[in-house]
Amino acid sequence: MEKDFHKEFSNCPSCGSEDRFLEQLGNELKERGLARPEWSFHMDVRQGVVLDPTKEAALPIGSEIPGYAFKTDICMGCGCIYATDITRADLKKQVMPPQIIPPNRAQRRRDAREFPFSSS
Ligand SMILES: [Zn+2]
Repeated sequence: MEKDFHKEFSNCPSCGSEDRFLEQLGNELKERGLARPEWSFHMDVRQGVVLDPTKEAALPIGSEIPGYAFKTDICMGCGCIYATDITRADLKKQVMPPQIIPPNRAQRRRDAREFPFSSS
């Protein structure tokens, strides 16, 4: 598979209808000004990676991992649920940001003495 693989499907693979349930509901909301014009409506949008979690720790920072993203909708002609858009979206392993641990109660009391005008 190519790294920039992306494919959209404009009609139902079963009956050929182009009418999609969620897409049409979304269009009605847009016409009434209740949804933003740039929004797209789907039954489901999912993305993730294909990876054995026990192997992840051994991967060096910067490694690329095959990732997927897809959108689905329901055909109004026959009820078939099908992918309207499938995309390969590789992810790079990154350094996790350090966790911020809140100060304990004693530390907070000391801080309060040092900063008597704090709002807390
Ligand atoms: Zn159909």
